[in-house]
Order: sequence, then structure tokens, then C-alpha cells
Amino acid sequence: MDNNTNPNANSQPAQGTNPNPPAAQPLPTVQQAPTAQPLPTVPTAPTAQPVGYAPSQYPAPPSYAPANYAPASYAPTQYAAPQYAPVPTQYAAQGQATQGQAQAPMQPGYANVPQQPVGPQYQKIDKRILNACRHKSELRWYWFLVILNFLIIVGAVCYFFYAMDENQEYVDNVYTAYSEYVEDTMSGETADSSDDQKADNQKDDTEKDDEESTDSMDNLSEKINDMPESIEYLAMILFLLVAIPFIVSYAYAQYRSMSIQITEKTYPEIYAIVQEYSQKLGLKKVPKVYMIQGNGVLNAFSSFIPFKQYIELYADLVEVAYREHHDMDTLRFIIAHEMGHIYYKHATMHYYYSMLVSQTIPILGSTASRAREYSCDRLAQLLSGSDGIDAMMSLTAGIHLYKQVDKQDYINHTTEVKGLFVFCYNLVCDHPVTSKRVIALADPQRRSGKLY
Ligand SMILES: [Zn+2]
Repeated sequence: MDNNTNPNANSQPAQGTNPNPPAAQPLPTVQQAPTAQPLPTVPTAPTAQPVGYAPSQYPAPPSYAPANYAPASYAPTQYAAPQYAPVPTQYAAQGQATQGQAQAPMQPGYANVPQQPVGPQYQKIDKRILNACRHKSELRWYWFLVILNFLIIVGAVCYFFYAMDENQEYVDNVYTAYSEYVEDTMSGETADSSDDQKADNQKDDTEKDDEESTDSMDNLSEKINDMPESIEYLAMILFLLVAIPFIVSYAYAQYRSMSIQITEKTYPEIYAIVQEYSQKLGLKKVPKVYMIQGNGVLNAFSSFIPFKQYIELYADLVEVAYREHHDMDTLRFIIAHEMGHIYYKHATMHYYYSMLVSQTIPILGSTASRAREYSCDRLAQLLSGSDGIDAMMSLTAGIHLYKQVDKQDYINHTTEVKGLFVFCYNLVCDHPVTSKRVIALADPQRRSGKLY
């Protein structure tokens, strides 16, 4: 309907002269206003299906478990409850319109207010189901490290006060050495300016003063370096407490400024995935996602700055979806894994602070980290509907070749990777060795992967 059409536009009299004025014509009657037509109704939204990547498009993955890990299927009963189907809402029609379908015609007389596009809406998954994905040892390890962290800090403070005499002596020595240094420096400057007429003597005095100043500087450095352990420990903890916000903000600035932010317009398919998972996890904000060029490195991670979390995807990983194999399944799993870290608050400032010192202890910190990774793998299966095996294969064989790997053969061979040195290597890794991860992924009936 053209809003500018005027039904009387063609009824104008012809132009020209007429010597005989025409007889008075009756005034034209005002035409009856057309009966108001009912406004076209907005087409009823069909049952909303997420465009492109509806979980329903991902049937339950087949069983890849080796003989020793023989689950019947990938759909564990405890994960059967979540409703993946998006819930249609009053925004569903608008959400579909943003995906390229026809919008309802704008009505004449109505303010032409641009409609805010709203994507498909997804129902939040029950919290108990989300928490059931956690590795059975994750929280145990977390609280162990939190308590250990607390004890270490309290111990460092107690040690500081216990060694107070030694610390006081250290402070006195440093202060004395500093005073001597300042005194020598000042006397040198005074000598330089007070005796202009005795040039020869001045040269000798200056050299002598420089030597004294250097000696006192060396003495001060020596005294400072002779720091007692109790001060060292406390200083390190205080430094971390103060410096961490600056360090993570600096890292974020680096990643952000060197990355491409994924938005509704830039890689909208990826943005839609992040939106979908945010809704399913009940996150208040959709985390920012950036893509960075990694020179062939296959990686993705979630991280934080104060009051904000974000995800970084390496471009080579994204290629599995856009260039190599159009494998959006694998990318969905990887994003879901990182969203898992955000949901479980692994990538938050307070989580980091709660294990500030204890997580740096070898083996203890890495074991807790491995438990977290298993949790996020399981949650990623739930969110993405993907088994995650392909994602592991892409990280192992590389994005160009992983589709040539025989999946079942790959899984079978993971069970053969064992032994003392595998155990030792796994023990110090922040992520479980891939063979153990694959075994856990291939067996969804097993709640938790093997930490050791
Ligand atoms: Zn992870």
C-alpha cells in the first residue's frame, strides 16, 4: 500500500481560457471518507525455531564409547530434562524478521519508530541440571584451595609478626643506609657549588665525593636485598592483591585492541550462539566475545577484568566453521565450554582472589584446574548438543585434517594411553590430557572424568 496515493489527484480541471463564464456550479460535495480499513494484522509467529543452529537439528550423538566405556547413548537421563526448544514470545515475529523474513507493513499515521530486533528466546535450563554437570571433585578442590589460601595468608601475617625483631632491624639498617646515601649525595653537591675558585681541588673533591656516593649506594642496595623472608612473603601477597586488577585490565586492553569484536553484524552466527547460551544459562549479560589472529594456534579462553567477563576465540579455530568444514557443531561446543567457565564463575575476580596463592602451588593448582575443565566439557555437551569429540580431534589433528580421523578408532586408542609417565604428565597439566578428556566425553553416563 502506497501511503501517498490521493484518489482525487487526477480530477483537476484542464487549463485554458473561456470567454463565457460558466454558470455557477453547485459546490462539489465532500466525498465520503472511506470506511476505515482494519489494519493488517501482524502474522502470528510460528513456533519459534532458532535460525540456523536449533538444538533440535542436533540429534543425540551416536555412541562412540570404547568397549570399556560402553554407554548406550549420549543422552544421559540426568540431562534429558532441559527444554532446548526456544519459547515463542511476543518478540518472536520480530526476532524472525531480523533473520531476513518479511516484516509487517508500517501503517500510515503511525510513528515510524524503528523496531528493536530481538532474537529468539530460549528458556533457562534448570539450575540443578546445570550444576549436575560439575565434576564431582571440583567444589571439593575449590574449597580446599580457598581454605589453604586463607591459611597461607594468615600464616604469612603471623610469620611477619613473629619475626618482628628481625624485621625491625632490617628496617633500621635500610633507613640508616639511606640516610648515609642522602648525606653523601648532598655533601657532594654542596662541595661542587661552594668552591669555584679552586679548580684543581674541586676536581679531586668531586671524584672523592662520587666514590663515597657510589659506596653508599651499594651499601643501600645490599641492605635492601638482605630482606627477611617474612617481609618477602607478605610483600609478594600484597603485591598480587594490588596488581592483579591492573594486570588483567592490561591484558584485556591488549586482547580487545588487537581483536575483532563479534556482534550481530560481524559473525552474527557466532553472536547468536553466545546469545542462546547466555539465555539458557540465565546470564544477566551476554559476555563480549572477541576473535584474535593466533598464527596457527588453536585456542579459546574466557577471562575477566573487574566486573566483566569475556571470551577470546582464536581465528584458526573459527575457521572450522567458516572455511574448512563448515563445522558449526565443533565451534558450538568450544564456545559452550568457555560459557561454562563464565557460568561457573571460574573467570571472575573473586574466584581468582579466593585462590590467589594456593592455586600457584604445583599439582594442587593444576588438579583443581583439571576438575574445572571436566565440568565445562560436560556443560558444553549439554548446551551444544555436540559430543565434543570432533572439537578434541580438531585441537589434536589440526583444523585441516581432523575430519579425516576415524572417530571410533580415535576413541578406542585413547584407552591405550596410560602408564606412569602419562600419569605424571597429566598431574602437572592445567587441562586433562586429551586422551582422558575424550574418554570422559565419549561416556556421558560417567559423571566425571579421571583427574589422575
Ligand atoms: Zn576450559
